[in-house]
Amino acid sequence: MHNALGKYSVVLQDEMATQILAEKFAVVLMEHIATHGIGLGIQCHLSGDLGAGKTTWVRALLRACGYTGRVKSPTYTLCEPYSLTLKNFRANANEKHAYIDVYHFDLYRLRDAREWEEAGFRDYLSGALCLIEWPERALLPVPDVIITLSEKGSGRDAQIEAYSPVGKILVDHLSYAR
Ligand code: ADP
Ligand code: MG
Repeated sequence: MHNALGKYSVVLQDEMATQILAEKFAVVLMEHIATHGIGLGIQCHLSGDLGAGKTTWVRALLRACGYTGRVKSPTYTLCEPYSLTLKNFRANANEKHAYIDVYHFDLYRLRDAREWEEAGFRDYLSGALCLIEWPERALLPVPDVIITLSEKGSGRDAQIEAYSPVGKILVDHLSYAR
């Protein structure tokens, strides 16, 4: 991967800390999308071993975005779709919808990169918010943000890196948000 345009690192002592950071990220993300639209799509990769807290992050993010249903881990389905209503949506000429499509991927069980193409997942990336666990399993375009979680004592180390201008705005806002 190229050099990150921005980076935010923090230690998350427990599951609650992971949820709070994911909620902060959700607020910054939704505020950005409500103002500027989803554009060509926003991709977030979630890296880290089994049990690192990737699904925990996605679950907390979706809840913070107002989703109240069950958030299933897409371990076997590879992809779970969601539709989120934008709370502070500001209608403008470029943006027709007050909702966004969200796709939660878990590519752990992807057999090879071809399976990604054959499932038509490439089309899911455009104009949607994609949250992708195990992105290393497929050949994906460079994402906007990479969230890397790793064990640190009984907690987790979190690194949030920006790889696009939109990603940089999100990561910068996250590091200001207290
Ligand atoms: P993954 O999707 O990365 O395989 P999960 O989110 O399914 O991981 O599971 C992560 C596990 O680790 C859960 O049991 C959760 O309670 C726990 N966990 C999440 N964040 C933290 C943290 N910051 N510190 C300690 N445990 C955590
Ligand atoms: Mg998971």
